[in-house]
Amino acid sequence: MTTTRTCRRSRPARPVTRRAPRRAAGRTVAAFVLLSLALVAGCGNQEEAPVAPKLFVFGLDAATWNVITPMIQAGQLPNIAGLVREGSFGNLSSHPPVQSPPMWTTIATGFLPEKHGIDGFMAPLPGSNREVPVTSNMRKVKAFWNILSENDTSVGVVGWWPSWPAEEVDGFMVAQRAWPMNWSRNGIPFGAARDANGDLVVQDFPGRTYPESLYEQFEQFVVTEEDVTAEELGRFFADSGFTDPAKQFHARWVYAKDRTFTDAGLWLVERYRPDVFAIFLHGTDVTAHYYWGYQTSEGFDVDEADARMYGGVVRSYYRFVDEAIGKFLAIAPADAAVLVISDHGFETVRDLVEPWEKGEEIRTEIGGKDVPWDHSLTGVYIMKGPGVRAGHRGPDAAVEDVTPTLLAYLGIAVGEDMDGRPIESIFEAEDLAARPVAYVATHESGDPRGDEAPLESPVDDGIKEKLRSLGYIE
Ligand SMILES: [Zn+2]
Repeated sequence: MTTTRTCRRSRPARPVTRRAPRRAAGRTVAAFVLLSLALVAGCGNQEEAPVAPKLFVFGLDAATWNVITPMIQAGQLPNIAGLVREGSFGNLSSHPPVQSPPMWTTIATGFLPEKHGIDGFMAPLPGSNREVPVTSNMRKVKAFWNILSENDTSVGVVGWWPSWPAEEVDGFMVAQRAWPMNWSRNGIPFGAARDANGDLVVQDFPGRTYPESLYEQFEQFVVTEEDVTAEELGRFFADSGFTDPAKQFHARWVYAKDRTFTDAGLWLVERYRPDVFAIFLHGTDVTAHYYWGYQTSEGFDVDEADARMYGGVVRSYYRFVDEAIGKFLAIAPADAAVLVISDHGFETVRDLVEPWEKGEEIRTEIGGKDVPWDHSLTGVYIMKGPGVRAGHRGPDAAVEDVTPTLLAYLGIAVGEDMDGRPIESIFEAEDLAARPVAYVATHESGDPRGDEAPLESPVDDGIKEKLRSLGYIE
């Protein structure tokens, strides 16, 4: 019966049973009755528009205006351009040493690293002389997904860095390590083995998704580096006829990972319709590290054939990300809000170009790289949605302002103890007057949280190899 189907679409199945809301019962019941009436009234024969997610968060690693602005001007990022045109945007400053796990955790919590406890890529494993990649259990404060879950707002999070083990939320979570193919350069995948048919079998380990049972559904979307076809990869290069495996390696693995999370994310959004959906995409950073120096547009003196083959990878990757955003917007409610953010930017370090081209040894200040391109302190924010000013160049903000802004937008109190503050001036004045930002002293329970030590996983060596090849660890 059509009626049942359309009604069901509005009240989505959840991967977990929702806990009882902690709000005052009277108000919740009244709201529930009104909502039910609205749903009954809306249950006609026509396909009903989805009501959630009401907010999408796209975390784009190292996304920079240095790439976005010229591409928007050239008409190459239609979806991001639309968000800029219809929303507010500005610079989002990062903090040294400008590393992804601390900065994405600051973005997700509103706290600086000294308070949230994730202060680098790696952490020492007690009782050994080894270090392993940082894990989510080390976080000393709540992330927005915890706060939303406690405030009657369901949430889906995919691929955040760091997010393993996945945490219990009102909704779902796919940890970054759920993409298992941390491939080695010599073709041996970590955390996986080949069966008699030569097919890859991924080693099981807990915490890849919340709930645990979601992994089975997620797994159907896993794209491995081997699965990526030359034709698919060809979109990033001049053509699909290139033959240098070393030079396509980085685009290949990060595309496999981002495509996995994008495809799975689209499916999860359609199936579970969380109130807030957040996804992290990695390739804008990885392609910049490896292919930035082939861009003649950045003033580099590049061999013509190399410039042709590799000079467009960074921009092609931004196009892929723009298309991914477009796919989510296509299944979003018409009035869904969108927040695009990066943890830091990326730039050509101009005064190092000449010495580098002369063959002198150089070191960048931020990342200590021996090439004249590196992370920059200036990332991006773009926010569009009902109540957000349109076409508005907002003030400079910082990574710790993201969670306060997200909470304020959703009408959830901001923690006074957070280091960040909502970017209030991007909200419409009338909305802000009618619904001023609320504050609570803290969202923390008072109980200490956050373990000192990281947890080990079967893909640690693969992650380490990737971090090493990015020049982040020795
Ligand atoms: Zn980077």
